[in-house]
Amino acid sequence: MSSQSQTQGAAESAAHSPGRRAAVVINPTKKTDVDIRALVEQVCAGEGWAAPLWLETEADDPGHGMAKQALEEGADVVIAAGGDGTVRCVAAELAGTDTPLGLLPLGTGNLLARNLDVPVDDPEGAIRTALAGTERRIDVVHVKVDEAVDSEIFLVMAGLGYDAVMMGDTNTALKDRVGWLAYVDAGIRNLPGKPVKTMISIDGGKPFSRRLRSVMGGNCGKIVGGLEVFPGAKIDDGLLDIMTMAPKGRLGWLSVVAGLLRRGKGRGTAVEYFQCRSADIWADSPQDFEMDGDHLGSATRLSLRVDPSALRIRMPHGKKDPAILTNPEP
Ligand SMILES: [Mg+2]
Repeated sequence: MSSQSQTQGAAESAAHSPGRRAAVVINPTKKTDVDIRALVEQVCAGEGWAAPLWLETEADDPGHGMAKQALEEGADVVIAAGGDGTVRCVAAELAGTDTPLGLLPLGTGNLLARNLDVPVDDPEGAIRTALAGTERRIDVVHVKVDEAVDSEIFLVMAGLGYDAVMMGDTNTALKDRVGWLAYVDAGIRNLPGKPVKTMISIDGGKPFSRRLRSVMGGNCGKIVGGLEVFPGAKIDDGLLDIMTMAPKGRLGWLSVVAGLLRRGKGRGTAVEYFQCRSADIWADSPQDFEMDGDHLGSATRLSLRVDPSALRIRMPHGKKDPAILTNPEP
């Protein structure tokens, strides 16, 4: 902690939050145009905060250990600086605590930031939001993959099957530039293959069977480019949204898009929606698996469980809340 920045901060504004300290858990492999560390230190000093605790993620620890250290050192906010993978690891440690998460999106993707209207192209704005934005509680979703004992969490969505193939296949630069058309592109390239028999149990109910290309669990609705995979999904309603996709015929992917646009309504739809607190999903064979837009290998079985209001998060002040929030700003 630099005494200079403390003195400077306190002198500049006693009304701010003197002595407060942010921890930054940063993925150093994300290249940026600006010196992010200098920028964070400058904004913290300007807001009367102490010099931040700076923690870089590593190949064998993408953020969990760093977030634990930030909690042990009593950080007032832990800023996840990186992509959705960094956000997931930090959020997993902060969930269930009173320490809020801030977002400093770096690189492409940044699905959670986009859903919460946190600036993705304005690092200074994102840092200010992390220090002084509106604080809200959001749900997280715990996922157990196959026979895993420990759960992981996601904040936006997880998918088994077709959508995960797309996430893995989609050119990242393209994904950022042209949005969901890139997913369509990947989808068309991946269309060969057969639907997979999949069993689904909603809230512990009797399992039912579907022949699917993909099943997804959602905590909020938007993927890159603003395509709403889960129209109207709220990130603070304590409910998990499940969507199944079963593209039909030669225009299979288009039938899914049509289903999305009709929100799963209508006859013979390629898309079905369920809302629940937990879901168990078994595919007949290992399928591609993604969480929050990151392709994470393959899985046969997923157990999903929503943990309502588990995570404090800072988001921009504004006249209106992001559409994914249920409760009005207090
Ligand atoms: Mg929800």
